[in-house]
Amino acid sequence: MTDLPKHTADPAESDALAVLPEMSGGGGALKGLHARVLDLLGLAICGGDLETGSVVRIEQFQERYGVSRSVVREAIRVLASMGLVASRRRVGVQVLPAERWNLYDPQVISWRLASPARLAQLQSLTELRNAIEPEAARLAALRAPLASASELMGLAGKLWAAGQADDAEAFLLLDIKFHRLVLSSSGNEMFAKLSTLVEAVLTGRTQYGMMPRHPHNEALQLHVDVASAIQRGSGEDAHAAMLGIMARTFNEMSSLWGKDTDYLAGS
Ligand SMILES: [Zn+2]
Repeated sequence: MTDLPKHTADPAESDALAVLPEMSGGGGALKGLHARVLDLLGLAICGGDLETGSVVRIEQFQERYGVSRSVVREAIRVLASMGLVASRRRVGVQVLPAERWNLYDPQVISWRLASPARLAQLQSLTELRNAIEPEAARLAALRAPLASASELMGLAGKLWAAGQADDAEAFLLLDIKFHRLVLSSSGNEMFAKLSTLVEAVLTGRTQYGMMPRHPHNEALQLHVDVASAIQRGSGEDAHAAMLGIMARTFNEMSSLWGKDTDYLAGS
């Protein structure tokens, strides 16, 4: 049997506690409680507090979190669907190795981004973006409906303004919209589905202070270039401009890779 993770003063956890619903009942409250226990368990597994192969009994979780058996069972059921745990009859709940996890699940990604392996997760996500997004931009130039192409132009313009005004919050929301729209405009439904990953990596970089404080003019211009190439139907230009954005991201990120996570947590 394994010791359960101790309570920490992690800010993410305090936030979760702040929204902990009343336990007196009601469907909504129960749903919130499920989500809370699920989140704590997911973080414990992805953060390595519950080690691979360790076995825990449902009663331990009940005691640890002060919740009913059904709440724990529901959380376990969701974790099992993500490949994080398996229920072993008469033994308990076993934590599965990371190779078994559904690494594309947005919740698994957010737990991994909150873990000490944050940089490795960001690196994998950035490499994935680098492989997908330039090709998505090329296809979007060939396939994007006119309305989407002009919406991209509008977003690139607003992104420029938010960047110049140093409005980080607006910048993040617009940037997510922009990259989502390029992926969906590619006409490839598999690419379109990856927009949740792009959202996770952009949000993660901002949340953990890994975005440049002032977006570079070159990066802003490249977004405009992607949009205008898509609007005029130039696949090669759209590909090249998106590759330029990815190269910038890659450089910014790789200056962080190899550094100690404590440094980043404190930055
Ligand atoms: Zn961007």
